Amino acid sequence: MPKAEQTVIEINLNALTQNFNFLKSKLEPDTRFLAVVKAFGYGSDAVIVSSHLEKLGADYLAVAFTSEGVHLRQEGIKLPILVLHPQITDFKTIIDYCLEPNLYSFRVLESFIETCTELDLNNYPVHIKFNTGLNRLGFRSSDIKNVSELLKNGNYIKVRSIFSHLAASDDLLKDAFTRNQIEDFQNIFKELTDNLGYRPIQHILNTSGILNYPEAQFDMVRSGIGLYGFGNSPLFKNNLTPIITVKSIISQIHEIEPGESVGYNFGFVSDTYRRTATIPIGHADGIGRQYGQGKGYVTINEERAIIVGNVCMDMLMVDVTNINCEEGDEVVVFGQFPDAEEFSSTADTISYELLTGLSRRIKRIVNS
Ligand SMILES: *Cc1c(COP(=O)(O)O)cnc(C)c1O
Repeated sequence: MPKAEQTVIEINLNALTQNFNFLKSKLEPDTRFLAVVKAFGYGSDAVIVSSHLEKLGADYLAVAFTSEGVHLRQEGIKLPILVLHPQITDFKTIIDYCLEPNLYSFRVLESFIETCTELDLNNYPVHIKFNTGLNRLGFRSSDIKNVSELLKNGNYIKVRSIFSHLAASDDLLKDAFTRNQIEDFQNIFKELTDNLGYRPIQHILNTSGILNYPEAQFDMVRSGIGLYGFGNSPLFKNNLTPIITVKSIISQIHEIEPGESVGYNFGFVSDTYRRTATIPIGHADGIGRQYGQGKGYVTINEERAIIVGNVCMDMLMVDVTNINCEEGDEVVVFGQFPDAEEFSSTADTISYELLTGLSRRIKRIVNS
């Protein structure tokens, strides 16, 4: 790859292939693989990632919101797409773009059936979600009877899958809770399918679920963060590779005299002679102010350069007093070193938030 000459996000499709293959190696050959590409493919590029996953043989895609699914269809993605969090106002669009809604409450289930009735649709594919402890979206087990009555009333919709979501699959201290969720889900699935008279796809595992509870893979798994290179555990660091690297450049170097300050509001006041480098990436790009004031660091020529003062909207300043570097040199904001897990932990957050917060204004380039 040529050196970065501006702020860019490099997307490494070979790493995506390796991560996909590693996750698949944890599964039975016939377990379906749903790739989660919501939030612009966790901050990368949903279209680039989805078309690569289509070639790799993923079986399903999932997005959070309808507009994300519409975008994938407009860009020619053909795989079935589950919309995890649709709203009633989206239903006609969902149908127009052959997207498949998650129906998680009586309000949305009844309304979707009504839409399908009006349009006189037959067997439109839908997914039914049950809440087993996350208390976010989903029916409760006590709803099974009423849900099956609605589902069996007419041929407008057909249940493609029944699923649930784990609350702490990455935390082995909550193992008993997770096992309980899995067991409840198995009971719910059995009762509902007995009532329905046919067997939809059964799925509950996200990435950490695949890694920690492969015995609960059922018919399909849903992986997001693992595809992008993170397993939420040091155990899998060697098996998963971050697919994106955020690179930038040193725009300017300043020599700071003792007593001078750097950045807005005297965010950093130097007591000694210092050299700082100004990097063209800021909080509008997704590197928030919480990384400032000595918390986060980037790497320049493989050396750590701590962020000094307050992160600005479009730039940040790092201390390069002890780093051999000059204006125009490449900067790794995060990628392999530091990786998104390390970088985000400096501001007490997680890789998911850092990745998905990367602004659309950063140029994406594919490096395969
Ligand atoms: C985001 C999401 C996933 C993906 O989780 P990862 O931890 O990124 O693998 C799976 N299922 C649901 C319902 C989600 O919202």
